[in-house]
Amino acid sequence: MKEFKSFYKEVAGNEGGKCRYNTRLDTYGCGCQHDCSYCYAKSLLNFRNLWDAKEPSVADIGKIERRIAKIPKGSIVRLGGMTDCFQPLEGQEHVTREVIRLLNQYGIGYLIVTKSDMVCEYMHILDKEKAHIQISTTWIPCEKAVSTRRRIAAIEALHAEGFDVAVRLSPYVPQFVDFEQLNSIRCNKIIVEFLRVNHWIKQWLPLDYSEWTVKHAGYQHLPLEKKIEYLAKVTGFDEVSVCEDVTEHYEYWRECVNHDKNDCCNLRK
Ligand code: SF4
Repeated sequence: MKEFKSFYKEVAGNEGGKCRYNTRLDTYGCGCQHDCSYCYAKSLLNFRNLWDAKEPSVADIGKIERRIAKIPKGSIVRLGGMTDCFQPLEGQEHVTREVIRLLNQYGIGYLIVTKSDMVCEYMHILDKEKAHIQISTTWIPCEKAVSTRRRIAAIEALHAEGFDVAVRLSPYVPQFVDFEQLNSIRCNKIIVEFLRVNHWIKQWLPLDYSEWTVKHAGYQHLPLEKKIEYLAKVTGFDEVSVCEDVTEHYEYWRECVNHDKNDCCNLRK
């Protein structure tokens, strides 16, 4: 098993400047067994031979604890910002489970972003005050992560138990979404992240990209008018937020759409 050494990162630049939770702690790296066709991390690492979806590298829990000990109490770190911290490997390695225990112990909050329902197996260790969970659903065909039905069941189970959980429609590609299913999920919050594409993602997820006409920070995006039109199809949630990369679009969502202007992840305070 290879060791994943860059497990802790404070993301800067265009993305880090907009994201309130830009401290990432990744328990697995240099690959993700979900191997999604639209994966931004894969598109950045694969061509440099730094992506191994079959055998991702595993972070060392001793080193993680030494790093966690230096994080100020009350901070919030993002688990699964680069790769899924609940990919199948977690079933053998349990590094994410140990990290959650450490974060609880050191008084640090955590935002879990995942496409797995394995997070529900850890309900007994998730702290209701510190844990914030976003489960991604996409309806994009041929995903290797657990089925949409299982992800929705996990969202509803966490919501019913009183956890701070949101549907993460990410990436949002309206052509694929079952809106009836989406809008009837029993959860009050949704975070929407529109698909952005680069050369690699276009190859792995062949689609008609003629609408993706806005270029920003190395990616092509839908124009704001199209995003507004597509967002109107998302109707089943009391609290809507958009996770956005394009600066002008980000400002529009913040002023006109996001439930919490100061927090596009809309975490429970
Ligand atoms: S689950 Fe996330 S990190 Fe893993 S391959 Fe899919 S998009 Fe990439």
